[in-house]
Amino acid sequence: MLKSKTRINALYEEELGRFIAARPRSRELHLKARQHMPNGVPMAWMKGLFDHPPLFIDHGEGAYITDVDGHRYLDLNVADMSMSPGYAPPAIVRTLSEQAAKGVQFLLPGEDSITVSTLLTERFLLPYWQYTLSASTANAEAMRLARIATSRQTILMFHGGYHGHIDDWLMASEMGTVKPGKHAGTLMVHFNDLAAVEKALSEFDIAAVVAEPAMTNVNLVLPQNGFLDGLRALTQKHGTLLIYDETHTHVCAWGGLTRHWRLNPDILVVGKSIASGIPMGVYGMTKALRDVMESHIEVERWPQSGEGDLAVGGTLFGNALSMAAARTTLTEILTPENQKRAATLGALLADRIDAAIYKRQLPWTTHRLFCRSGLCYGKQPINSMEASRSADFDLNRLQRIYFANRGVWEAVATAGPTVPLCATGKDIDLYGDVLNAWLDEIVE
Ligand code: PMP
Repeated sequence: MLKSKTRINALYEEELGRFIAARPRSRELHLKARQHMPNGVPMAWMKGLFDHPPLFIDHGEGAYITDVDGHRYLDLNVADMSMSPGYAPPAIVRTLSEQAAKGVQFLLPGEDSITVSTLLTERFLLPYWQYTLSASTANAEAMRLARIATSRQTILMFHGGYHGHIDDWLMASEMGTVKPGKHAGTLMVHFNDLAAVEKALSEFDIAAVVAEPAMTNVNLVLPQNGFLDGLRALTQKHGTLLIYDETHTHVCAWGGLTRHWRLNPDILVVGKSIASGIPMGVYGMTKALRDVMESHIEVERWPQSGEGDLAVGGTLFGNALSMAAARTTLTEILTPENQKRAATLGALLADRIDAAIYKRQLPWTTHRLFCRSGLCYGKQPINSMEASRSADFDLNRLQRIYFANRGVWEAVATAGPTVPLCATGKDIDLYGDVLNAWLDEIVE
């Protein structure tokens, strides 16, 4: 049985005090940063990521990060799955310095763009690719393309889904249900509810369904048997495009869940780790959508402008530095062997978590999704509403700070742990040991 809330919160205060006292340099930098940045961080929302003063980082190496006070952490958040390759992999350091010496950006294509597109096709099976600087923007462009291709406006997505800070998808969260924000162009249903999908597709003209194959932003929600097959069949029946967002999950297996689970989307969005954390979002499309894109792009014939109603692109998109990083990531880092190894370690991590909760007879469960294995303070959720019921703010903030004080960084409440590609069995042991120590502390 867990200790009382009062004791859990008292333990949190104790751990928080230790955390702050041991990090004077981070505190000093935060005070300085407050003078020139809202909330004293480069993105104001960052401060809300955790319930303690921000940690200022000095450097990262492999699966570890080191803060400015010299504390070293095993990072199982991997910067919200954007650094699955680990920090400063030698192949990426070499590639970046070689490309920097040749120029980082030209607003003209280089041969790497062909190499990367060919590698993406081999891996994810879609034949045509476009590039942005983030997964958010790749999703925004995918959505625009879907609207133009279908001459429909509405996008269907799932409660609790996050696909980036795009006006259409900015949602207000209420107890695990997420409702459309200001935008009228989005409809929401619950994940794993095929009847609701069918109803929405029958009643509205829906341009596209946008989904992660497994939801990774509400802790973890796995698809039930038949759900993803049903989604493909229903979208095809109603002339609706299917967009999978594998910004996070592409690291799970070579070719992502799209290839591993044979998902056959019309558009696939990938980001974050795809260029080892160097800014890049990519989206793949079918030949039919390539044709739509080509016929709707405004081609400038200076001084007149050509016709076009599909807005895509940006000055730095597809730049030479990001392309070079993607080339090396695809050929040397996100390899079948490395991805398989991380998935095996993910299963080992899940076994350690399972054993720890079984030993104490806790009514908790373990997620298993390749390298993204984790702990759920309840039964396996089938949608975001259930996921929010098994969330526990007090327990979660204690877990994170307790782990940080013992050299494990698992920063984002809803995201992790994820085993980095460069992790070892020793790292899994460290996580397991800290988990067991924490459980000894909170279970009576
Ligand atoms: N898709 C998913 C599934 C995400 O989780 C995120 C960010 N967490 C994004 C897209 C947006 O990625 P970015 O912030 O890198 O644009």
